[in-house]
Amino acid sequence: MLRIGLTGGIGSGKSTVSRRLAELGAVVVDADLIAREVVEPGEPALDQIRERFGDGVFTTDGALDRPALGRVVFGDPQALTALEGITHPAIWGRTAQRLAAAQEAGTAIAVHDMPLLVEKGMAGEYHLVLVVDTDEEERVHRLVELRGMPQDEARSRIAAQATDEERRAVADVLLDNNGSPEDLVVAVDRLRQERLAPFADNLATSTAVRAPHEVVLHEVDPDWAGQAAREIARLRHRLGDLAVTVDHIGSTAVPMYAKPIIDLQIGVTDLAVADSSAFRQAMVEGGWPRIEGIDQDSSKDGAPWPKRYHLGCDPAVLLHLHVREVGSPGWRWAVLFRDWLRSEESARVDYRAEKERLAASGLRRGEYAEAKEPWFDAAHERIEAWARETGWSPEGQGA
Ligand code: ADP
Repeated sequence: MLRIGLTGGIGSGKSTVSRRLAELGAVVVDADLIAREVVEPGEPALDQIRERFGDGVFTTDGALDRPALGRVVFGDPQALTALEGITHPAIWGRTAQRLAAAQEAGTAIAVHDMPLLVEKGMAGEYHLVLVVDTDEEERVHRLVELRGMPQDEARSRIAAQATDEERRAVADVLLDNNGSPEDLVVAVDRLRQERLAPFADNLATSTAVRAPHEVVLHEVDPDWAGQAAREIARLRHRLGDLAVTVDHIGSTAVPMYAKPIIDLQIGVTDLAVADSSAFRQAMVEGGWPRIEGIDQDSSKDGAPWPKRYHLGCDPAVLLHLHVREVGSPGWRWAVLFRDWLRSEESARVDYRAEKERLAASGLRRGEYAEAKEPWFDAAHERIEAWARETGWSPEGQGA
């Protein structure tokens, strides 16, 4: 099941998006709704709240008196923490239950409508994060005019949330809602058809998205770093301790003129970890199926350089995942090569010229990768000399 996180600032228009996705067959799990459900009469969280906060936060007919509870926790961090200690586990439990039930029922796409997705650092939990993006002034206007909220309340609520920049950073998809609701619906329909539905199909069948056979090189795309960072957050979330390092490598990490492929290197303690069922299951569920038969790098020292190789399922992102043992020559080389290119302009110029020469000769994907090897081999000594001179080490290089 494709798990989508949907967020946006208050008044951005999330409801339009979740409603439309539900009409198109997705199961929507609404975080605000669940937060209200878990404190309805008869819910266990309600008894705990009474125990901690007393009868004063209840109405005479036994329902939760939200304004009264609000006054008690407002400006009292300890009380707020205590309240959240009761409500949050109930909310997470029910959310997980709903998602599991949807999966059980064979749902292809589940949407978690989660206003605080960014504030809670949850982006890595989803296959895809959609952010509804609407200018702040427009949101204030809509909250005041359409939801009857006092202007100062609208502003203070907006100020208490994550910033637009923070939300954009985790967005795999930005849905602009400064236009009409109809425009937004059209954008959602297109997104579903072009990306969500094929992504869900690929995920269900573990079908990898492969780069096109033609080699098309691109100038630097400023979004490569963001794409890599979002994918790394997902891998970290799914793999936990199974991955020791996860780094953005290759030309898009430099960044420089390149095929628009996000290469990531997952460092494991031993390739046996990469072959374990826990690792393989996490990769399949995350949407990164293993590609069998690609299990060697081109060695630069005569000894075998083993690896494992996975691709992504998102039709909009070309993702290559190289799993290597931390500290192995192949693992080290990938980081060294990137750092050398980052550091040396002349290296980037030479490498670009070689790429252009090969691309112009009309090579296809596999041939192109192979044809680059002599250049790598020739550069090998130069790169190692650079590493010695600069005292380079792969530790702490980061992504
Ligand atoms: P959120 O759930 O993100 O807080 P809503 O979906 O409730 O925000 O949208 C805020 C208000 O703006 C609602 O009254 C909604 O009907 C209205 N709205 C949403 N999109 C548009 C739009 N494109 N143009 C005008 N009003 C809109």
